[in-house]
Amino acid sequence: MRLVLLGPPGAGKGTQAELIKEHFSIPHISTGDMLREARKNQTELGRKAEKYMEAGQLVPDSVVIGIVKERLSAPDCNKGFLLDGFPRTVKQAVALEESGVVLDGVINIQVPRQLLIERLSGRRICRQCGKAWHVEFNPPPEGICDCGGELYQRSDDSSETVSQRLDVYLEQTSPLVQWYEEKGLLQAIDGNQSIDEVFAAILAALEARR
Ligand code: ADP
Ligand code: ADP
Ligand code: ZN
Repeated sequence: MRLVLLGPPGAGKGTQAELIKEHFSIPHISTGDMLREARKNQTELGRKAEKYMEAGQLVPDSVVIGIVKERLSAPDCNKGFLLDGFPRTVKQAVALEESGVVLDGVINIQVPRQLLIERLSGRRICRQCGKAWHVEFNPPPEGICDCGGELYQRSDDSSETVSQRLDVYLEQTSPLVQWYEEKGLLQAIDGNQSIDEVFAAILAALEARR
């Protein structure tokens, strides 16, 4: 199973990725998580990505394409993978295709803009396991993650950067919707439902493709 999760920031890609990866036993590859990890460790990649991420801009294609290609060549990707947050530009999608990857499906999670803003501004992330919670929509038990980890708010989830990221999505990433539609790979999913309902809709859409 080789899948791509598409959708604007806050659509629920990371949340659904956790459920999909368990269900199909495939690795979850999040470029956002990889870049945040690199920043935390202050690697060369992390230092390069920092200023773009803080500004709500995309990290340059060449940088991101390089780390994804390397990750996909690891043995655990042999039987499939779930890409979350990549590709985000047509250039990235072309690079993925040219590297010989044949996708089984692209899941496009759709959520209205106002709700995206509410989701992003209330998002809290676990420092220990990376899981996303929401202060209102998916509140953490006792204010900490169920793994015991402490929660924090991503600096790019501040209201100013959020609207910048949503604009960047519209300009640079949303053209991929049509691009994948024309290739017959796109599965549109209504993301304005409960987490469990969205997951059920994704499984049903993938089942219908087989
Ligand atoms: P969200 O889940 O809110 O959409 P991500 O965690 O996927 O956010 O990404 C956070 C930031 O990391 C982006 O705003 C961007 O700066 C950078 N980033 C992640 N993936 C990519 C990518 N495929 N291409 C360019 N930049 C990326
Ligand atoms: P993305 O990876 O697409 O940026 P996340 O999975 O991090 O999105 O979800 C963004 C925020 O919305 C998180 O706080 C998450 O808990 C919350 N969320 C995710 N899915 C839903 C849903 N179906 N209903 C309500 N809140 C949700
Ligand atoms: Zn946790």
